[in-house]
Amino acid sequence: MKRIIKKAKFIFTAIFICLALVASNSIQRYQTVTNAPTTNPCLVLEVSGCTANAQEPSLPSPVSSQPLSEQERFVAAIMQNLKVMPEPGSYEYTLLRSYGAAFINPADNVKLPPKLIFNNEEDTKEFQSQLQLEKVVNTNDCYLQKSAAEALNKARLQFNIPLKSGYGASDCTRSFATNLRFWHKYANNKTLEKVKQGKETAILGVVAPPGTSQHLWGLAIDLGVFNAKQRQILNQNGWFQTVVKDVPHWTYLGVSAEDLPKLGFKNQVIQGITYWLTPLYRLL
Ligand SMILES: [Zn+2]
Repeated sequence: MKRIIKKAKFIFTAIFICLALVASNSIQRYQTVTNAPTTNPCLVLEVSGCTANAQEPSLPSPVSSQPLSEQERFVAAIMQNLKVMPEPGSYEYTLLRSYGAAFINPADNVKLPPKLIFNNEEDTKEFQSQLQLEKVVNTNDCYLQKSAAEALNKARLQFNIPLKSGYGASDCTRSFATNLRFWHKYANNKTLEKVKQGKETAILGVVAPPGTSQHLWGLAIDLGVFNAKQRQILNQNGWFQTVVKDVPHWTYLGVSAEDLPKLGFKNQVIQGITYWLTPLYRLL
């Protein structure tokens, strides 16, 4: 009898130990689960592809397989030259959307400005003094960055493409003062305030605000172009119309027309003229 009780005691103790072990294990497991981070990664990081229903597992996909949007392709291209992307909705962003086409230029010998607004003549001259300028053949005083001038000279050898004013320097690389003088011809400080607030954009196709013209960069020219053949030859030499409704204004992009959509550019045909526009959104 004693032996049986002893055996029963032993079995009981063994069962108790087993139960205790199982119980402590589940407590540990429960603690592990409750200690696990429960923060939604969508709230912490701006993870692309995050959806409102974060419970649903999404399959990881390599970034390269996702087709980039026009805007993403454009931003990727300009970031080679533009060091800081302006805040969407800012004055700089408006300027980049209107005049930033030139920033896609891939050539090493083409220099782009370190910022979108020059503050004064001194500021402008400091940038322009670093440029390798070359004269456009058969002009009075028309200078452009070397690659831009060479491409234009090549186009002008193939076909008659006059400058807007005939031969003047004001069609080509301009000083801060010339940019300012042109601005005051068409606009004033009230207009500038509206542009800065994003309430006025039409003026940007007429004249560039002080310190913001592509003509300050040595990569733009105003031409007297009236037919399709002239446009075709300019396009073949890397020159395009990039400022909407600014008919005489041409920008040196240094790439072929076929490459422009790949770089995110959108074309818009207005009154028979094809403008190649940046794909940045108009936010206001
Ligand atoms: Zn112009």
